[in-house]
Amino acid sequence: MPEKFKQGMPDPEEDESPEINIPEELPLLAVRDIVVFPNMILPLFVGRESSVLAIEAALAQDRLIFLVTQRDPDIDDPEPADIYQVGTVCLIMRMLKLPDGRLKILVQGLTKALIKSFLQEKPFMRATQEQITEQIMEEISIEAEALMRNAREMTEKILSLKGILSPEMSSILESIDEPGRLANLIASNLHLKIEEAQEILEQREPIHRLIRINDYLRRELEVSTMQAKIQSEAKEEIDRSQREYFLREQLRAIKKELGDFEERPDEIEEYQQKITKARMPRGVEEEAVRQLTRLEQMHPDAAEATMVRTYLDWLVEVPWSRNTRDKLELKEAKTVLDADHYDLEKVKDRILEYLSVRKLNKKMKGPILCFVGPPGVGKTSLGRSIARAMGRKFTRISLGGIRDEAEIRGHRRTYIGALPGRIIQGLKNAGVNNPVFMMDEIDKIGQDFRGDPAAALLEVLDPEQNFAFSDHYLNVPFDLSKVMFILTANLVDPIPSALLDRMEIIRLAGYTEEEKLEIAKKFLLPRQLQENGLNPTELTITPNSLRELISHYTQEAGLRNLEREIGSLCRKVARRIAEAEKGPFTISRGNLHRYLGPPRYLPEAEQEKDEIGVATGLAWTEFGGELLFVEASLMKGKGQLTLTGHLGEVMKESAQAALSYARARSQLFNLSEDFYEKLDVHLHVPAGAIPKDGPSAGVTMATALISTLTQIPVRKDVAMTGEITLRGKVLPIGGLKEKALAALRARIKQIIIPEANRKDLTEIPKHIKRRLKFILVQNMDEVLQVALTRLPTREETKKSSSRARSTTRPIASRPS
Ligand code: ADP
Repeated sequence: MPEKFKQGMPDPEEDESPEINIPEELPLLAVRDIVVFPNMILPLFVGRESSVLAIEAALAQDRLIFLVTQRDPDIDDPEPADIYQVGTVCLIMRMLKLPDGRLKILVQGLTKALIKSFLQEKPFMRATQEQITEQIMEEISIEAEALMRNAREMTEKILSLKGILSPEMSSILESIDEPGRLANLIASNLHLKIEEAQEILEQREPIHRLIRINDYLRRELEVSTMQAKIQSEAKEEIDRSQREYFLREQLRAIKKELGDFEERPDEIEEYQQKITKARMPRGVEEEAVRQLTRLEQMHPDAAEATMVRTYLDWLVEVPWSRNTRDKLELKEAKTVLDADHYDLEKVKDRILEYLSVRKLNKKMKGPILCFVGPPGVGKTSLGRSIARAMGRKFTRISLGGIRDEAEIRGHRRTYIGALPGRIIQGLKNAGVNNPVFMMDEIDKIGQDFRGDPAAALLEVLDPEQNFAFSDHYLNVPFDLSKVMFILTANLVDPIPSALLDRMEIIRLAGYTEEEKLEIAKKFLLPRQLQENGLNPTELTITPNSLRELISHYTQEAGLRNLEREIGSLCRKVARRIAEAEKGPFTISRGNLHRYLGPPRYLPEAEQEKDEIGVATGLAWTEFGGELLFVEASLMKGKGQLTLTGHLGEVMKESAQAALSYARARSQLFNLSEDFYEKLDVHLHVPAGAIPKDGPSAGVTMATALISTLTQIPVRKDVAMTGEITLRGKVLPIGGLKEKALAALRARIKQIIIPEANRKDLTEIPKHIKRRLKFILVQNMDEVLQVALTRLPTREETKKSSSRARSTTRPIASRPS
């Protein structure tokens, strides 16, 4: 409309159409869909051949052409009956030939005219015309004035509703004060239907024309108002969301001004930076960016947005490319290991070998170290030392009690509160992708759901696959191949065998009292003093009191409790110093109980004398070696065997075997052949709340049983371990060093062990062998010869069968 309106605008300076002599005969052009008014200037496209010819004819003459509108715009080849009677004579102001053969002309309406007659129809129409002169009103009546004002106002309103009212237009409307011309101007711009426009054109009376125009204007105004309303409603809808956006932006600005930090666009920007900084592998970065784009499109408070944020936080914090440089100086490594640990020479040697191989071959895919031993023997601290020696970070997770694969591999993100598995968590804590990664309690894993967590662990540990470990939560592969894994366990047996295959077991059995004393003096005490802010001059703990602490306040293979007790002493002294008491303080054997109360443990052997029916066995548990007492008693009865003390299946079978052995040897021990028929035997293993199982208590049970049967006491300073067959053969056991240490702790002087364990004696340090006599036996008879205070008397033995005697060998006490 504005285009057309402008084009349709008469020159306001020029009141009248140009004074041109209009001939009576003119070429006539049928116009399809517009009614041309006088004073109107407008472009027309002309394509029909007849029309082109008409224009050419006009141009050849005086550029005048008679434009008359077709009644039906769809007629291509109109005849005289198809066009209206009244049209407008126009001046062709300009003509342009378009490349497609059409013409573009610019015409100006000069005057209304009536067709008088057609002179020709083909090849173009030619007609005679008669001008219709406008009535010029001499004086503008009030009615005309009112109509004109109305028309102007409504036109302006319509234009402004359409948003196209300009001051220029207002002034044109204002400048025309002749009703007929005003009506023409408005009509030509009103988008009237052809018939309506033609009706206006044909209306000779200017006032009537204005009245019609006012009608049309009113209708148009209503339509325009309605249109504007509809539009504004639709726009309101759009506006509301925009408004919210603006308000939020304002809020953000206000918060920023107040220092309340809560950001959105910054958040995205920050993540972007973090992603770049994390130097992720390509695939991972793509995923991160994809998630970030999702986040950007979400409402910041949506639950889903929180999930995406948590995920991104993980992605950017996992150490994809951060690492430390390995120090592989062996001398230095040895210094570090020695500085942190007393003794453990073999273990240290093995670690140094391991590091040497790594130095030679960086891509080594060797076995994974697994430290096995009771709590407190230094597994963790060795791990830390290795990390320190290599210049790596150290991180540690515990696998104890893990039942679910997801603990290792993470939960899928579809779960609420899903997190990555412990491997990725451990790495995040380490902050680098090549830490020394310790996994504790590998022997406690998957005891409920065997298989699954172990299988996931295999994937973690296997150098063939762990370069692309996939955590369910991250859902992108992580390269674990640079991590140095170290495992720890208390016992070897429960470790799933598939894992065991890939490990190199390094055993730490525990320490003797002397070793503990040395460690306490050199490591634990200085560390505890420092941790409790004490100066070494302020507190002295005498060696004797340390010894007392070791033997009567703790009873363990490792050093945990000892360190705790030393820590407790330090704290108590620190408090006294803080309370302004004058030091220095000395803790001696005499005043130890004042700090820690009465002794907690009596070494077990000390509480026994040589007794009938009680034998001391040695067991191997996850806490190291332990003493195991077996009591036997006899009652009149019918040969029943009762077992108590929370025994497992294997121990029950051992008891049966012991009884059968006793029966087989009844002659040797001077027992009536049917002794068991009149007796009930009760075997009991005290400390009954602790479940006990394992095959190495056979000899102990048999010894206790024979002791009651023969009424000969068992030596209190002898402990034993070994399984027996029905014929009394003694079979080998595990955990020799642990058991030896337990025996030493209990002041036992000799232990009876199976001959088949002779090879394990090489593992036992000399200082242990010096204080503990190892007696190697092949059968039960030999056990009894050592364990009982005396053998059955000569007379007694004489009575026994020669066959039985021949299997009895002399006492085999071979200290090694
Ligand atoms: P684990 O991991 O085997 O349960 P830790 O490594 O926690 O045992 O050891 C317990 C404490 O005993 C630690 O403070 C550790 O430094 C100390 N410790 C253990 N063995 C030695 C040793 N051979 N020399 C010095 N300190 C030791």
